[in-house]
Amino acid sequence: AAKEGCPADVMSLGRGSWRLLHTLAANYPDAPTEEEKQNVTQFIELFSRVYPCPPCAQDFREWLGSNPPDVRSGPMLSQFFCRAHNEVNRKLNKKEFDCKLVDERWKLGWKDGSCG
Ligand code: FAD
Repeated sequence: AAKEGCPADVMSLGRGSWRLLHTLAANYPDAPTEEEKQNVTQFIELFSRVYPCPPCAQDFREWLGSNPPDVRSGPMLSQFFCRAHNEVNRKLNKKEFDCKLVDERWKLGWKDGSCG
């Protein structure tokens, strides 16, 4: 694994990127304007073209082809990224994440108060 203060490898790049994407969804409006919808749609499209892990980006673009971003609301965008992340989890033989818990993980903090 990449050490703190050193260049990113595929794992630390992935962790930081998911952190950005899930946090973006957690802060996306419940009732976005047309412009906000366009902006996030374009961001995801461009992200999938410039993501600096070519095989990751290629698979993500293919998945996006049959799974267009659901930008209708914050909750829908959060579920969209949860599905996208689970697709990669499956590919890497990682445990799937329960998408019902996505707000506790990325928006509200765990109900047991462990996030303060
Ligand atoms: P991560 O998978 O980075 O997850 C971080 C945290 O997110 C977890 O600890 C958990 O709390 C939470 N989480 C997990 N699943 C979900 C979910 N479904 N919804 C919400 N939260 C969740 N790596 C490769 O080796 N090959 C690839 O092809 C590849 N493609 C990628 C494509 C994209 C678009 C991105 C952003 C990353 C990709 N990665 C790929 C990186 C990979 O997904 C992981 O980030 C990396 O393996 C580090 O994994 P991790 O176990 O630390 O946790």
